[in-house]
Amino acid sequence: MNDTVSDVVIIGGGLAGLVAGARASELGLAVTVLERGTDHNYPCNTRWSGGVIHIAYTDITSSPEILRSAIQRDTHSKAEASQIHAVSANGARFIDWLRGQGSTFVRTEVDWQQLILEPMRDLRAGLDWENRGPDQLLARLTATIKRNGGEVVLGARGRSLVMKGDRCTGVEATVNGAQRTFLANAVVLADGGFQGNLERLAKHVTSRSDSIKQRGAATGIGDGLTMAEAVGASVTDLDKFYGHLLSRDAFGNDNVWPYPEVDAMACAGILVDSNGYRFTDEGLGGIAAANALSRSDDPLGATAIFDAAIWNGPGRSARIPANPTLVDAGGTVLTADSIEELALLAELPPSGLVASVASYNRALEIDALTKLSPERTDPKHVAMPIASPPFHAIPVCAGITYTMGGIHIDGNSRVLRSNASAIEGLYAAGASTGGLEGGGNVAYIGGLAKAGIQGLIAAETIARSRGVSV
Ligand SMILES: Cc1cc2nc3c(=O)[nH]c(=O)nc-3n(C[C@H](O)[C@H](O)[C@H](O)COP(=O)(O)OP(=O)(O)OC[C@H]3O[C@@H](n4cnc5c(N)ncnc54)[C@H](O)[C@@H]3O)c2cc1C
Repeated sequence: MNDTVSDVVIIGGGLAGLVAGARASELGLAVTVLERGTDHNYPCNTRWSGGVIHIAYTDITSSPEILRSAIQRDTHSKAEASQIHAVSANGARFIDWLRGQGSTFVRTEVDWQQLILEPMRDLRAGLDWENRGPDQLLARLTATIKRNGGEVVLGARGRSLVMKGDRCTGVEATVNGAQRTFLANAVVLADGGFQGNLERLAKHVTSRSDSIKQRGAATGIGDGLTMAEAVGASVTDLDKFYGHLLSRDAFGNDNVWPYPEVDAMACAGILVDSNGYRFTDEGLGGIAAANALSRSDDPLGATAIFDAAIWNGPGRSARIPANPTLVDAGGTVLTADSIEELALLAELPPSGLVASVASYNRALEIDALTKLSPERTDPKHVAMPIASPPFHAIPVCAGITYTMGGIHIDGNSRVLRSNASAIEGLYAAGASTGGLEGGGNVAYIGGLAKAGIQGLIAAETIARSRGVSV
């Protein structure tokens, strides 16, 4: 078959890829999107997402200064300066652009949940994506690309980059089993990370990659990373991921993931290992706890321990609260009138659990939580006593949504070599990129904002390089 020639070839049809494609097509560029999924409802993290668009748990339409300091605060100033600038300067503009594509938003009372793609998912456990805001958005972006003369090729897996000297000039792909070449002035890698690639996860994140639960579509299999590395791109921060603590039942019960998260109970109470002992600082929040658990000796041996006050307080406070959605979905919540009894129910050594709860309660009482080993801080979750019966235990696991590190880009979404020079013609956006998230205590900046803004910027940088005024 003849080579297909476009201005831009994009690998991946999630938010990053389709925003890049829609924006480039609006700017008059000929766009081809290659998407590995085979039918129009192809799974991807964007489609399955909760649709809350925020930056570092801050309203994305806040001023660039506020957004910049939120990112710096959460990443402990470890994010790339040019990426911080790009994301914080374009938050409000991205939302305006989405409105222009026909998106509408729901606001909640939570300050960082001011822009949730409408219609919002039901507030219940399990998957719920069909015809929800993110699903509708992908359909709208696809329509924009097609209306402007572009193409979204399904069943198309990007396999390697075509290089002419130092410049990227296209993609070799398999399309429904057949080899095809897509030539272009620019290529955007937007394949969503490497969480679905267990070998990569074992190499970069945890040797026990089979013991962490995929909390998303798992369609990011690291192809973009592999392609970028093969042409000399640098990669960054591959060891961190965005995820949450989930009920361990998620391995056998599809109704208890990706929601509810078990973070709120584990982080207001304690998280213990199979000996009944704490092993991480729960106050850093559920994303940090999921990362710590994934790297522990026994990722399938942890249990959240809490009491009635936590179950009826933080347990009900999440957007999709475990109390009662986890119970309604058939998830395990063990209940007992004493910690000894709870330990037996949870198959934990009573001596270990009793000692852990007692020293935690005592430290809380005398304001000495940071003297515990491991220390307990409270930047994200306030510690509450485990004192009011009945007591509860939820066996947990680490759920991985997407990898936070990846292809190193600059603030113009250009792929960089290790000497910081850009590889001409090569761009990346979304969960396939690194350099923004993961700093500090595994800072999460917001997967949708990162994907959408980097996609928008990639399209505009490419258009400028083609002499189009943006
Ligand atoms: C349950 C859940 C809830 C979430 N909730 C939120 C939320 O409320 N707010 C928020 O900000 N973020 C949320 N996220 C995270 C967010 O969805 C992602 O970070 C974001 O959508 C990533 O977009 P992306 O385009 O980079 O990747 P994706 O949406 O994963 O798209 C990547 C696409 O690339 C395709 N692909 C992969 N390899 C190839 C290849 N070789 N060739 C061609 N195509 C390929 C895949 O099939 C996929 O369609 C959530 C995620 C999940 C799973």
